[in-house]
Amino acid sequence: MSRSRSQLSFAPGPPSFEPDTFMVADVAPSPNFDDRKGGPPDILLLHYTGMQSGDAALERLTAAESKVSSHYVVFEDGRIVQCVPEDKRAWHAGVSSWAGETDINSRSVGIEIVNPGHEFGYADFPLRQIAAVISLSKSILKRHPGIAPERVLAHSDVAPSRKQDPGEKFPWELLAESGVGHWVRAAPLNVSGMTLMTGYTGEAVGRMQRLLKMYGYGVEETGTFDDVTRDVVVAFQRHFRQQRVDGVADPSTLMTLRALVETVPKRV
Ligand SMILES: [Zn+2]
Repeated sequence: MSRSRSQLSFAPGPPSFEPDTFMVADVAPSPNFDDRKGGPPDILLLHYTGMQSGDAALERLTAAESKVSSHYVVFEDGRIVQCVPEDKRAWHAGVSSWAGETDINSRSVGIEIVNPGHEFGYADFPLRQIAAVISLSKSILKRHPGIAPERVLAHSDVAPSRKQDPGEKFPWELLAESGVGHWVRAAPLNVSGMTLMTGYTGEAVGRMQRLLKMYGYGVEETGTFDDVTRDVVVAFQRHFRQQRVDGVADPSTLMTLRALVETVPKRV
């Protein structure tokens, strides 16, 4: 019995493509993307891989059955791999929201940063990995000028009740010093003032929720410090007040939040 040539050939993987920047060392095409809806990207979303190795993460991000992907993966040694072209909608954000937008995949470019994450022994991010993330981010921001500094976000910012990445070890300050993202120095832990926490109700809670919502977090101004509010405070701390991440809106957290909202770059 003879077989036709097509029956013998292997199933083709997703087609390769030209990387969007010369910084890309390898292209590892992922089939897990579709077309963007709406305009060009206006969010840069940073993740950690949260798996035991970078190779395992890359395998998952390029396997059809996983249904997840990312535009880029940055390894510990700074090697950058691109999995999805920037003009396509990579599947990295999941159920998420920012400033009222819920299709974060359509709105964003996603970078997965190799780190075992909280589940497998959260590691410090090596400096050369961060240097690569900064260079890559700057090139993305150049290609997509619609991404405002305050829209360079953590996965935990857009999905506070589900995600912790890239987490409180991620050096947002270094990125900001290099012109990537909006950031203010956190107020010291020992400043005095009011503390808000789970179960509290009242105007002060509503004011805090209003500021978090103004910045973009998915929380409503209910005046009740509920579980969602706590998750959002935790996400805020992971990004902006990393010294203590406990979901308690202490005076340092509230002062940092006010400073952050006051310093959002003005648009002309
Ligand atoms: Zn993530």
